[in-house]
Amino acid sequence: MKISVHGAAGGEVTGSAYLVQTREANVLVDCGMFQGARNLDNYNHVPKKGAFHRLDAVVLTHAHLDHTGRLPLLTRAGYDGPIYATPATIDIADLILKDSAHLQQADLERKNRRRQRQRLAPLAPLYTQEDVDRLQPLSRPLKYDHHTPVAPGVSVRVVEAGHMLGSVSIEMTVEERGTKKVVIFSGDLGPRGAPLHRDPVPFKHADFVFMESTYGDRDHKPLGKTAIETREVIKKAVQARGKILVPVFAVGRTQLLLYLLAGAFHRGTLPRFPIFVDSPMAIKATKIYGRHNELFDAEALAMLKSGELHTNLESVKFCPTADESRALNDHPGPCLIMAGAGMCTGGRILHHFRHNLSRPETTVLFVGYQGHGSLGRMIVDGKKSVNILGQKTAVRASVHTFGGLSGHAGQTDLLGWLVSFAGSRPHVFLTHGEERARKPLGKIIKERFNLRVDYPGHRETIEL
Ligand SMILES: [Zn+2]
Repeated sequence: MKISVHGAAGGEVTGSAYLVQTREANVLVDCGMFQGARNLDNYNHVPKKGAFHRLDAVVLTHAHLDHTGRLPLLTRAGYDGPIYATPATIDIADLILKDSAHLQQADLERKNRRRQRQRLAPLAPLYTQEDVDRLQPLSRPLKYDHHTPVAPGVSVRVVEAGHMLGSVSIEMTVEERGTKKVVIFSGDLGPRGAPLHRDPVPFKHADFVFMESTYGDRDHKPLGKTAIETREVIKKAVQARGKILVPVFAVGRTQLLLYLLAGAFHRGTLPRFPIFVDSPMAIKATKIYGRHNELFDAEALAMLKSGELHTNLESVKFCPTADESRALNDHPGPCLIMAGAGMCTGGRILHHFRHNLSRPETTVLFVGYQGHGSLGRMIVDGKKSVNILGQKTAVRASVHTFGGLSGHAGQTDLLGWLVSFAGSRPHVFLTHGEERARKPLGKIIKERFNLRVDYPGHRETIEL
């Protein structure tokens, strides 16, 4: 067996893809898009020749674009085999990939208009909506904790990874020439004890493990502490009858925040106030969460079953249309508005900013990472004035960052996950982490568990 690493390696955190090859089978685990730095666009293709074009199956850990974003390139190249994923991942990936194709299309049209003026040939899209549409009929739902054969000699068992709705770690059993080997792919691992999601499920045995290391060098701030701080910020904003603006990533943070607010309303630690989900994609994602609520953790399930979740979210209104979004400009505070884009690089959050950022009674709450150069980062960094939709806007709102909502396990939880099967002495390959994160994690794994640790590079092939 050999495994080649086609992304999220060499210190990179995006583009996850592992190709598992035996004499009889070729299986791809994840097929993610490279995101972030501009030059990574050149990586966003699938190899023209070789095993990528003889794939027997694709298996997904979760729906995030950096784990699924190159799937439409496979169908574009003619792939029509099965794509195994949990039902929630199938639904969320469809939403995320359709949005990605849409954004790319819009971006491309803008670029091509400019190229036309410069008399340059138009650029072709990476993939189209049709390529995304071709994925859905290939989906094969995976049952949790169930051995599913996916290719000759290859079966998988998936268990909760606690990272997002539907996320799993994969235990792959590979049988070749009468010997069986077990390879674990961690996928992205969530923190233990996080609200709404179940905790990652431990394993017992592995010969090899490909493990994420995003926060391999540190632990997050305790969630409880930031939750209390945030509650106080919201309470103050409500008393000041201001608007609370929350730039959100449609899938994950929006639903988590709604759940946390429902809890605070239920316990009476916050007075109820109107909440607006002002993002068509976040609305769709929230509905998917509703459809797969069997995946919630015990506390959330209890709240759901008793009807408390529903009752406490009665003040939530969805705004699917642009008119409904605009109407919020005249809505008096206090209210909380969640709108995209998560990093304020576009979307409806911009018009809310334009109308409210200069008001001292406004509160801006950041719940996700703000990339360098993004509008969100400028506001977090305390700029007194920013450019919004071509208009200079003063920042007089109070700005807060709620950093405890990460979907990723910190160092302690990563080690806690590995300890469950470290006794079986797996060979560890650390991926999905910057060097400053994966090297310190590797050092601790070597010292504490005396395991062999390697740090694969991009497109490296490992013979196992
Ligand atoms: Zn992820």
